[in-house]
Amino acid sequence: DPRLITPVSQLDDEALEATIRPRRFAEYLGQQAVREQLEIYIEAARRRGGALDHVLIFGPPGLGKTTLSHVIANELGVSLRSTSGPVLERAGDLAALLTNLQPNDVLFVDEIHRLSPAVEEVLYPAMEDFQIDIMIGEGPAARSIKLDLPPFTLIGATTRAGMLTAPLRDRFGIVQRLEFYTVDELTAIVRRAAKILGIPCEIDGAQEIARRARGTPRIANRLLRRVRDYAEVRAGGQITLAAAQAALDMLKIDPDGLDELDRRLLGTIIENFDGGPVGVESLAAALSEDRGTLEDVVEPYLIQQGFLVRTARGRMASARAWRHLGLAPPPRQPQ
Ligand code: ADP
Repeated sequence: DPRLITPVSQLDDEALEATIRPRRFAEYLGQQAVREQLEIYIEAARRRGGALDHVLIFGPPGLGKTTLSHVIANELGVSLRSTSGPVLERAGDLAALLTNLQPNDVLFVDEIHRLSPAVEEVLYPAMEDFQIDIMIGEGPAARSIKLDLPPFTLIGATTRAGMLTAPLRDRFGIVQRLEFYTVDELTAIVRRAAKILGIPCEIDGAQEIARRARGTPRIANRLLRRVRDYAEVRAGGQITLAAAQAALDMLKIDPDGLDELDRRLLGTIIENFDGGPVGVESLAAALSEDRGTLEDVVEPYLIQQGFLVRTARGRMASARAWRHLGLAPPPRQPQ
């Protein structure tokens, strides 16, 4: 993740992250609609004593897809095995994982849109009939045998549901989209994390971090740690509104929560492409950024906040984006 790189205490950060990751629904804040639905399906599966139907979770990075998968497994009272699309190179890799599951276990596949076609082929009958076909031997002597699997729940996570093949998408009985979090929800997440980490944090300070966290818990938690560092060195250890503002300004995160890459993207559309429309490829080239990063990480929040508009002919900076950069929007610009 290229955002907010924290080279000094990266390892420290990861260890802290593990201690604040919610384990049960009671600690998983926000996403009310998603939680209510899943709690019903989980309860029903528990009463039947069977596996929960396969779940697809999609949404931008850092919104809690991995966390939610662990919560689901914990609430079901089963184990979770974790892997990811790019890691499963050969059909045999997946077969090995599947045949080692206990009944009703969860198999979590992150970045499920990046599975190879050969691996996807194995997944279809596994999801549908809890069976896999594996090939034994080679050449004319090769034959395929069917193996029964224990019933299991596949939880797939992806940043964009549109990247999944139709046959794969159709095999998920439960599809949930995670939304950006509200400032109130993120404030609660920051306060919870501060409490666990023993960081003195006033409500105003937590709110300021929440406002500038791009609707994303992972960013909120990371900003909390950076503001803590600032507060310890410059502000007597207490996260106050003033300390949060000063620390976040120093990180070049503006009052609307936009970071340097956000502003560079909007500035490039306005200055190099006359406000747009501009295709994502041209934009990526002008910014020297990866197209996938723009589409998955940068654009969704800018669109949600009304800074960026996606049209059939490409991206346009909205009037709000011009004003944000201190410019007068031309009349034809979308609001
Ligand atoms: P994703 O898999 O979508 O990229 P993660 O599940 O890794 O995101 O979430 C990033 C971090 O944000 C987690 O480690 C956790 O601390 C925090 N987090 C995510 N969702 C929530 C939530 N609903 N409530 C509290 N904290 C959350």
